[in-house]
Amino acid sequence: PQPGQPLVQVEHAVKQFGGLRAVADVSFEVRTGEIVGLIGPNGAGKSTMFNLITGVNPATGGTVTIAGRNVTRWRAADIHRLGVARTFQHVHLLPDQSLLVNTMVGGYARGRAGLIASLLHLERAEEAALQREALRQLRRVGLDAQTFNLAGNLALGQQRVLEIARALMADPTLLLLDEPAAGLRHGEKQELVTLLRRLRDEGVTVLIVEHDMDLVMNLVDRVVVMNYGEKLAEGAPHEIRAHPAVREAYLGV
Ligand code: ADP
Ligand code: MG
Repeated sequence: PQPGQPLVQVEHAVKQFGGLRAVADVSFEVRTGEIVGLIGPNGAGKSTMFNLITGVNPATGGTVTIAGRNVTRWRAADIHRLGVARTFQHVHLLPDQSLLVNTMVGGYARGRAGLIASLLHLERAEEAALQREALRQLRRVGLDAQTFNLAGNLALGQQRVLEIARALMADPTLLLLDEPAAGLRHGEKQELVTLLRRLRDEGVTVLIVEHDMDLVMNLVDRVVVMNYGEKLAEGAPHEIRAHPAVREAYLGV
């Protein structure tokens, strides 16, 4: 889709876990070229929403449309192939492997099990292509000087950036980030914001879950607020800051 056109359309999405409605009739859009923030208290349903959009754990009701395709029942691997990548709320790196290997892993739209095994069984040409792509992404995020360092040696901020490099393998058009600044120091947060702005300028549309309100409000074009599985509000950062129900439910003021 062209800039400004809908890239993700979530319509009346529902996710039921037994008796719990983790997502209850939520609708919103992400347009091409935007950075959209998805905020809300713990348990609001934000990570569950990411799982609906990425096919990790599909909706039990409503629809998810990406780039004009109804992907509501698609498998995660097929949604990934459509150009959707994500990071997870908790760091998912292989600490005893190099940054290069950790990034190459993103070239597989598979589960974690057997990832290293599949890397070991690659054809030489395939492996070289994957390495080139991983090096390109490490350069893109500014971690190339540490290509052969072990992921476990990195500071948390750099581990988060490494996860982004891995997600960028195969050049997604949509990047979903689940609390990428959690636990980061101020300087690391600033670097993350700079990186995400640059990725947006390079054509990557971003949907970000983040608790640091200053970071979110300073970074995003639009904010969607969830609370108890429902959409509480949506708007520009200044509208959300001033929204009475949001202030009460989330900002605690
Ligand atoms: P958030 O990311 O906004 O903190 P989550 O999406 O993780 O919230 O969770 C929303 C609600 O759904 C919570 O009550 C959580 O316990 C529940 N939940 C999330 N995943 C599952 C699951 N796989 N099975 C059962 N309940 C779940
Ligand atoms: Mg979460």
